[in-house]
Amino acid sequence: MEFWLDLNEEQRDLREWVHGFAEGVVRPAAAEWDEREETPWPVIQEAAKIGLYGFEFLANTWSDPTGLSLPLANEELFWGDAGIGMAISGTALAVAAIYGSGTPEQLVEWVPQCFGDAADPKVGAFCTTEPEAGSDVAAMRTRARYDQAKDEWVLTGQKAYATNGGIAEVHVVTASVDPELGARGQAAFVVPPGTPGLAGTRKLRKLGLRASHTADIFLDEVRVPGSCLLGGKEALDERLARARSGQRASRQAAMRTFELSRPAVGAQAIGIARAAYEYALEYARTRVQFGRPIIENQAIAFALADMRTEIDAARLLVWRAAWMGRNDRPFTAGEGSMSKLKAGEVAVATTEKAVQILGGAGYLRDHPVERMYRDAKIYTIFEGTSEIQRLVISRAISGMPIR
Ligand SMILES: Cc1cc2nc3c(=O)[nH]c(=O)nc-3n(C[C@H](O)[C@H](O)[C@H](O)COP(=O)(O)OP(=O)(O)OC[C@H]3O[C@@H](n4cnc5c(N)ncnc54)[C@H](O)[C@@H]3O)c2cc1C
Repeated sequence: MEFWLDLNEEQRDLREWVHGFAEGVVRPAAAEWDEREETPWPVIQEAAKIGLYGFEFLANTWSDPTGLSLPLANEELFWGDAGIGMAISGTALAVAAIYGSGTPEQLVEWVPQCFGDAADPKVGAFCTTEPEAGSDVAAMRTRARYDQAKDEWVLTGQKAYATNGGIAEVHVVTASVDPELGARGQAAFVVPPGTPGLAGTRKLRKLGLRASHTADIFLDEVRVPGSCLLGGKEALDERLARARSGQRASRQAAMRTFELSRPAVGAQAIGIARAAYEYALEYARTRVQFGRPIIENQAIAFALADMRTEIDAARLLVWRAAWMGRNDRPFTAGEGSMSKLKAGEVAVATTEKAVQILGGAGYLRDHPVERMYRDAKIYTIFEGTSEIQRLVISRAISGMPIR
């Protein structure tokens, strides 16, 4: 599939449809759920009812051979609101992990359970970060031990910052099977609904994305059937044997998930940036000081020009990376990381400028740029911090073991 900037009819329809939902349902609810710091179940249910939340929606967007449908949908949804956007999209992380590491049978069994149905929607969680293993995935301490007699895996450890952790129907948990192999000794497991031992979750209180539930979770001898190992035991044993014999690795479970999702995450950041830019542009046109609209000052107009330029530049990087990923192009310069790095930093800079353009009003909860400013910051932190993106890019372009 060639890279092409003109959207086709299907993509334009998708963008309009998601935009309509973001404008009509998400935006009006944004301030309330941000204040409540709770998962907006009624909004998720609305999304499920119209087909915007569920396996079919994700499958349709993923199947677009240009790769652009998911970024398009994400940008519009997060333009509506990032907290609610994440409450709706958080499940996709678990689904991406199942898709990335699971067998086709596991995909069919677990993905629908992550979403539930329109009458009773559920969410999924992907739990990889730990208190001692954030950027340094290899430092993971959660252990997976195989109980051969029962054909069960026993998971013990602690996970940090899990989106939907503890409220999810399905948790996908990464754990170390062979700690001596570092990241190469890790695997991903599905923890089915109601599994004993996954308890004692601690809900976290955050700067932004407050409508999205984030929690620490504790795994105390959590027993899951052997079939819950994503990819299956045979594939794991082969992978571990290759690692032990010093052969080059296939990509680790957690990293593969992040690679799949980086441009889609970048698109979320662009949605926030665009929303803040549009709001600030309108404000600058109508706010009068010194007898004229503030946009007639070059300082304000140029700030808006820069905001728009940066947003468009970030979107082009996101679209390129999404297209490359979908068309199996090698990321020889870390293009997936570039897209997330640029989009995250643009979201932070743009929302900050938007607050500045609104002056005192920008600092108040009366205007959404205050919330957007808080929400944007996460995009230089999760799914790999900006520093980690730079590490990936610098290693890719130099071929050097930069630390
Ligand atoms: C709201 C939210 C939702 C999240 N959702 C999930 C989720 O669903 N699932 C999940 O598994 N995780 C999730 N995370 C965790 C997130 O991915 C991590 O916070 C992130 O990867 C950073 O890890 P850390 O917080 O441990 O920071 P650290 O790794 O401790 O980093 C601290 C600082 O040091 C820098 N640093 C670290 N190593 C290097 C290096 N080698 N070179 C230069 N700088 C370096 C970092 O860039 C950062 O600035 C979420 C986090 C938040 C806040």
